[in-house]
Amino acid sequence: MPLTAPLLVDSKDQLEEVKYSLAAAFGDHHASRDREINVDMPDVVCQSKALTRTAGDRSQVGPVTLFKDDSPFAIVHFRVDREANEYSYSLGGHAGWHKRGTEETISKYFEAVETTFRHLGVLPEQYQVTCPCGTEDIVDGAYTAVSRFFNEHQNSGSHADSRVLINTLINREVSPVTSSETNSEAKYLADQHA
Ligand SMILES: [Zn+2]
Repeated sequence: MPLTAPLLVDSKDQLEEVKYSLAAAFGDHHASRDREINVDMPDVVCQSKALTRTAGDRSQVGPVTLFKDDSPFAIVHFRVDREANEYSYSLGGHAGWHKRGTEETISKYFEAVETTFRHLGVLPEQYQVTCPCGTEDIVDGAYTAVSRFFNEHQNSGSHADSRVLINTLINREVSPVTSSETNSEAKYLADQHA
């Protein structure tokens, strides 16, 4: 199971809405019907298109594939965990993406995805991250920042023998921090220890 970052979404219907809005913002004309999405896209992204696909299994809503120069380039995966009532996403490159761009290009795509999510109001302000080794931190930013945290942490040597690959991390290691939670965190902790 890949690293995923939760979205502030309460239902699968809302997640579907996020998916089609994202696709519309990236230029999927089919998804654009009835949608007014006005997000500033970097030039490298806004000249391309996107394609939504229908879910193959019930735990997902289907990915959005982002195109560059008419070729599939990056993918946004959505995940539904009904038991935990959690809705999350992860970002990846399409097979062979590096033939059409550099790390910098793909990170522009990922930034544009997260700009769109922020515009839609479904990203928390920060994420609480907990490595299985016990290391905890608060990360500003979204999936890309969380992913960077784990990469840097694992390369820092503080993991020593118990190296944990990023693709073994599951949702509970990454949780949203909203401003109201931040404000009430001290009280919450005080209650826990009372
Ligand atoms: Zn660790």
